[in-house]
Amino acid sequence: MLKKPEPTFRESVDLMFNRAVALMDLPPGLEEKIRVCNATYTVRFGVRLRGQIKTFTGYRSVHSEHMEPVKGGIRYATAVNQDEVEALAALMTYKCAIVEAPFGGSKGGLCIDPREYEEHELELVTRRFAYELAKRDLISPSQNVPAPDMGTGEREMAWIADQYSRMHTTDINARACVTGKPPHAGGIQGRVEATGRGVQYALREFFRHADDKKKAGLQGTLEGKKVIVQGLGNVGYHAAKFLTEEDGAKVIGVIERDGGLYDKDGLDIEGLHRYISQHGGVKGYYSGEYVVDSRHLLEEECDVLIPAAVEGVINMNNAERVKAKLIIEAANGPVTAPADDVLRKKGTVIIPDMYANAGGVTVSYFEWVKNLSHIRFGRMQRRQEEARHQLLVDEINRVLGEAGVEAKLSASFTEAYLKGAGELELVRSGLDDTMRTAYQAMREVWHEHDDVTDLRTAAYLVSIKRVAESYQAKGL
Ligand code: NAD
Repeated sequence: MLKKPEPTFRESVDLMFNRAVALMDLPPGLEEKIRVCNATYTVRFGVRLRGQIKTFTGYRSVHSEHMEPVKGGIRYATAVNQDEVEALAALMTYKCAIVEAPFGGSKGGLCIDPREYEEHELELVTRRFAYELAKRDLISPSQNVPAPDMGTGEREMAWIADQYSRMHTTDINARACVTGKPPHAGGIQGRVEATGRGVQYALREFFRHADDKKKAGLQGTLEGKKVIVQGLGNVGYHAAKFLTEEDGAKVIGVIERDGGLYDKDGLDIEGLHRYISQHGGVKGYYSGEYVVDSRHLLEEECDVLIPAAVEGVINMNNAERVKAKLIIEAANGPVTAPADDVLRKKGTVIIPDMYANAGGVTVSYFEWVKNLSHIRFGRMQRRQEEARHQLLVDEINRVLGEAGVEAKLSASFTEAYLKGAGELELVRSGLDDTMRTAYQAMREVWHEHDDVTDLRTAAYLVSIKRVAESYQAKGL
């Protein structure tokens, strides 16, 4: 019998969507309206580099405009194509809905390997791409707000913001045209770490629920849990760093482009991340066993598997052999729809991408609000909050003194209590609240509906319902 081909990324997203929507009772036609991608713009532009004109191909897809602006990152990779960008744009719609960020879904991509270009060349290409998109309102504070994704970061976002500002010199909100900018160029504290931080908060919330852990065959806390991470880039590095440094988890495996490293006692994430930045890969690192065919590490025994690189890495070919108890999809689309079926039947619990990596868009939302309000979070309240705390501390110490009690509030307590929240603390607090609230909405559906046997379907049900309500409120 001929083996069925693996669906494309967009087909996988649609299959998962269809699985969920079959359990809903949507008005006729609305299901299709939500599922399809509204528009995809393809641009080909030339940039003079190294004495010749080089032509680049880029995309910006708008999946759903039930809320505007639409939002989604820009990816730089050679494999970027229309199918991928549309799949990612659809996931953005569902992602924004699940974390209640008031945006529609969009995504962009440029076919380029950024490692092949000098910084000044990348700046020329990025500015030209931004110009092409801004010209068509595909970058705009009120209509379409990009952010970083694979292959892009703060630097590219700063170029895009500057390019947009040059084209809209009188727009006082120009900085809000893109998020993920550096703090000194209109960004917000905590954006770079946000997606990895969100993965940490998602796992913490999962481990707070005994029933959920039981479904995955796990118990206790994150302390000592064996973790394998694929992709030690922005998302994977921050997730691994926080889980090891703050929750006591042990990263026993790291998978990168050039191979993998395995160490049953746990790898030093900081050292390894520095090594990868200097050498471009994991090969030659002083600790851990080097594995050339790192795909095998995806199949290694572990408590938590964090795919944080590219889509489709867990597919029909390897799903049966994946032994992780819990998979948290830090990347977008790492598990294909057929692999999802296999894993669900095996009882593997998957925390789905649309929720798991929503930390980035959540903090991007905070950045956009900050840009539009033109004031840093906490600027008005911080010192006032500290003064009120000081009043209380002074009064308690005075009362204790008057009552003849020798002891005073401890210096460490006083210091921690007095400190008012700055922007970073507020951003982390808002992100934590968002990740907890969204998880609870998902798990409620997971546990309360007999037909819903997994978190992914639950996540789709929650988000599709919200998008549908939004369309219906518009009278569509
Ligand atoms: P990044 O470019 O910073 O890092 C990607 C890492 O994966 C790199 O270290 C790269 O070497 C590695 N990698 C690439 N292909 C690989 C392969 N085939 N096998 C093993 N390793 C490989 O990208 P990122 O921003 O961390 O994004 C990673 C994933 O997270 C993507 O799916 C992206 O869409 C998703 N995501 C990112 C953000 C964000 O804020 N950056 C937000 C949401 C989702």
